[in-house]
Formats: sequence, structure tokens, C-alpha cells
Amino acid sequence: MTQYLIAPSIIASDFAHIADEVAAIQSAGADWIHVDIMDGHFAPDITIGPLFVKSLKRVANIPLDVHLMISEPEKYIPAFADAGANNITVHVETCPDLPRLIAQIKSLGCKAGVTLNPATPASAIDSALPLADLVLVMSVVPGYSGQKFMPEMIAKVEEIRVKLNALRSSAHLEVDGGINVETLPLMKQAGANVFVTGNAAFKHPQGSGAGVRALKEVINAS
Ligand code: ZN
Repeated sequence: MTQYLIAPSIIASDFAHIADEVAAIQSAGADWIHVDIMDGHFAPDITIGPLFVKSLKRVANIPLDVHLMISEPEKYIPAFADAGANNITVHVETCPDLPRLIAQIKSLGCKAGVTLNPATPASAIDSALPLADLVLVMSVVPGYSGQKFMPEMIAKVEEIRVKLNALRSSAHLEVDGGINVETLPLMKQAGANVFVTGNAAFKHPQGSGAGVRALKEVINAS
């Protein structure tokens, strides 16, 4: 049976109250904490680094799902593993030799994920599919929290789901960007099982716990 997971993206939270934010999403049933790392180079914005992840690890009791939107990820993978990342996901645009990075991530005791920008064809990650623990489809261009979902990415999720099934892979298929109560069912239908969510969780008018609960209800109902 497919396991469906909610992974709120911590960069949409209030960093001044990070422990409270983490407690709220955890008690509402969040499964992972998604951590978007941007370097001002591969992605235009700058977010957080390993030091912050280390602090986050101290207040989190669910896995940290670290998404590296940075150039030369191989240089920083050890620092994020050391900071407490459970999953580390890298972009094919930053390193065409994904099997090498996957081996590096696994050698540090983490689960290895691969991802691709909306403009990159699904075939770009073919060599990584038999090796990855997780495949992430970006449904916005890496850059900022709060962007609108790109419906063209539904077909990409379907395409990758077919490939994973053909490989009999049990890798997670995760989607990131503009996921909310309207778009989540579309991605679930397409074959995704992990849903990153930023504003739909942390900017919910009744608080982040209510945001997570609303998304979990949608998973169960769709
Ligand atoms: Zn992300």
C-alpha cells in the first residue's frame, strides 16, 4: 500500500519561532520537514545552511528532508549529513553524474534523492532512477517560496511514475512547488506520494497545524 507523506517546507515558517513551528506541524501529523537550501547562485535566493539545519535537528523528531538548490553540491553534502539531514536531494543541473553523488550521499548514511527543474526533461535523470531512494519533481522554478504551481508538471510526474514502476523501484516520488489543497489531488492522481508544502501549511489562517491537517484530509479524501 502506498504511503502518502506531507513534508512542510521550513523556509515558509517564522524563523524567530522555529521550535513552536516545528512542534505545531509535528503534532498535526507532518511526516518530514522539507529544508530548501538556496545559495544565491544556482537559485537566486539565499536561505539557510548547515548551522541552521543543526539547530532544526535539535527540535525536530521527524526526518529532515534536505533539498540542495546549490552549485557544487558535492562540497556541502558532508556538512548537511553531519548537521542531521536524513534525506539529501541534489539537482541534475548541478551535477550530471548523479550516480556519483548518490553514492556519496549513501556513504554518509543518508537517503539519496535526485531532482530536476521544470525545464529539464525527465530523461535527464534516467541513470539515477535505479539508484535513488527519492525522486523530486519541481513544480515551480527553484527560487522563492510562494510561487504558483505549474500544471505542465503533472505529465512529468506520470512519466517518472511509469519508469519507477517499470524498475520495480520503491523510491518516493515527491513534488515541490505550489502544492495546496487544490493541486495536491492532481499530483497524487499522477503518482506522487510525498507532498512538499510551504505557504499552504505555514501561512494557513488558522495556523500551521491547521494547514497540515487540511492537507492530510485532502490526501485521505482524494
Ligand atoms: Zn524543496
